[in-house]
Amino acid sequence: MPELPEVETVRRGLEQFVVGRRIETVEVLHPRAIRRHEAGPADFIARLTGKTIDGARRRGKYLWLPVGEDALLAHLGMSGQLLVGPADAPLSPHVRVRFTFADNGLDLRFTDQRTFGHLLVSADGAELPSVIAHIAPDPLEDAFDLAWLTARIAARRTGIKRALLDQSLVSGIGNIYADEALWRVKLHFARPTERLRPGQVGGLMDTVVDIFAEALKEGGTSFDSLYVNVNGESGYFDRSLNVYGRASEPCPRCGTLIRRDPFMNRSSYTCPSCQPRPRNGRW
Ligand SMILES: [Zn+2]
Repeated sequence: MPELPEVETVRRGLEQFVVGRRIETVEVLHPRAIRRHEAGPADFIARLTGKTIDGARRRGKYLWLPVGEDALLAHLGMSGQLLVGPADAPLSPHVRVRFTFADNGLDLRFTDQRTFGHLLVSADGAELPSVIAHIAPDPLEDAFDLAWLTARIAARRTGIKRALLDQSLVSGIGNIYADEALWRVKLHFARPTERLRPGQVGGLMDTVVDIFAEALKEGGTSFDSLYVNVNGESGYFDRSLNVYGRASEPCPRCGTLIRRDPFMNRSSYTCPSCQPRPRNGRW
């Protein structure tokens, strides 16, 4: 799954290339891409045609483009891409929805090989689309509230990594960046949240923000060649990962071999010396 830095990289590209432009045509080439738009393709097309894109916003891994009172909401899923390019370029077989603009400039293509991503129009969703209103703010948003998060995390009585991945507590943190942040602050993923010391949640969130900033500078992590910016280019933060995907390699801090444990149908990577496993941990 793309995580926050990869989605933010796409948002910045949309801000640069499509904001302020008027949509001339909308072609739905594969209806599965708009399956969550319950009123169907004709309604989707009608709500966007002729509208001007007023901005490019994000919460966690969701992107939305305000158009008047409404919003075009996008979730990239596993393999979705929003690509900006020459309008006369040949259509790849994975293009699901195509937008052209009244200025006849670069077009916008929603391309999705595995079709787990989707687009929909959220009525009155310009400020915050209703379908994502239950998702907590991500750590880069002004609305992010550390005191609220600290209290909720302690009350949840779970393992710290489960809490980080819980989008109702904080959004935008996935498996890769959770493992990297926990390694930097030397916390094991199973540390029970009620046993965190005061200030540890704040320190962890500061670290998450630092890692996001570093990843953004490098265009995100391209564990999968499908994570690309609007120009189709991959980021290269994966070279900077310290533990994620590095089982049996030496910890960059102490040299102990990195360990992989199964976790929530995926994996967790830790340094057994820097991040000792807690007694009575919560997985
Ligand atoms: Zn170590």
